[in-house]
Amino acid sequence: RSPRPYNFSAGPACLPLSVLEQAAAEMCDWQGTGMGVMEMSHRSSAFQSIISQAESDLRQLAQVPDDFAILFMQGGALAENAIVPLNLAHTGQVDVAVTGSWSAKSADEAARYAHVHRVTDTVQDGYRSIPAPSTWTLREGVDYVHLCSNETIDGVEFAELPNLRELGCSAPLVVDCSSNQLSRPFDWSRIGLAFGGAQKNIGPAGLTLVYARKALMKSPLAACPTAFSFERVARDGSMFNTPPTYAIYIAGLVFKWALRFQYAGLQGLAALDAQNRDKAALLYGALDGSALFENRVDPSVRSRMNVPFFLRESSLTDTFLAQASQAGLMQLKGHKSKGGCRASIYNAMPLSGVQALVDFLQDFERRHG
Ligand code: PMP
Repeated sequence: RSPRPYNFSAGPACLPLSVLEQAAAEMCDWQGTGMGVMEMSHRSSAFQSIISQAESDLRQLAQVPDDFAILFMQGGALAENAIVPLNLAHTGQVDVAVTGSWSAKSADEAARYAHVHRVTDTVQDGYRSIPAPSTWTLREGVDYVHLCSNETIDGVEFAELPNLRELGCSAPLVVDCSSNQLSRPFDWSRIGLAFGGAQKNIGPAGLTLVYARKALMKSPLAACPTAFSFERVARDGSMFNTPPTYAIYIAGLVFKWALRFQYAGLQGLAALDAQNRDKAALLYGALDGSALFENRVDPSVRSRMNVPFFLRESSLTDTFLAQASQAGLMQLKGHKSKGGCRASIYNAMPLSGVQALVDFLQDFERRHG
């Protein structure tokens, strides 16, 4: 059994224990400096080495090409829903693929700065599927096309990102990858800009990662706060203002952990990808084989990171959640907009955690089914 309970929170979420232990050991004295990282000037050479190492490790881990800048920003993904149009919506036309609760929010926020057209919208179907991108009503000449690669609430994930060029669309693709960044390789050739809050696969809330194709970073709209200008933040090496230094330090420890991560004879992102595939297959297999529990998402777009599930006998949900947490399976309650349950199984959730959940589901079903 794991020394700690298994934590299935959707975010902020569980982190590797070895990262937390290293941070604890270094809390008061980082590498003999006599200072903790929280106490250091962001302009000190010590912190400069932390942020440069974090950036180069992230670039290596996620295979981010050199024509992308990596920015360490603040405000979370919801702020990016405004920051992106403020930087990119120069003609004021934005296309959004609405495939879940988060992309719906992105469309609403972008509409404050641009005319937004929803190229697809699956709200009527309860956000359970993704229509083929070839059926999307993409427009000519828009500033960008936005999508959310993994819908954290609805449990819907793009198995692969659409190739807009092949669809005759020359606009850049903007991806909210908050909840699946670093869970699998991305095809960067299809991406113009991607962003994500750190608090799922990467580290503490308060840090937002932005991966921006350098050619896309031009002067923002006049209304854009300077601290949110991609071009300016990139020029200043994420130091236009004080960045979230401690969160960047923890993220850096997670990148090192991920680079060393091994699974099935693989290492790094390939190993995480393989483990995530196996974890998801194990959990969906158990749900599909159950007469009590069910996942309602189209199997071709089921998320590997966030698995919403329901008890067919919904009056048993509270009992299930209470017993699960007594058994050391924590934070399985579904999002308030959906009800039911949700297991978030990010990188730091080991296969043994998913196996423990599956064993518990089966045991619960024997007792209550
Ligand atoms: N987009 C996605 C896909 C998310 O999962 C979340 C957070 N759960 C957000 C946006 C909002 O992020 P934040 O709360 O960091 O602004």
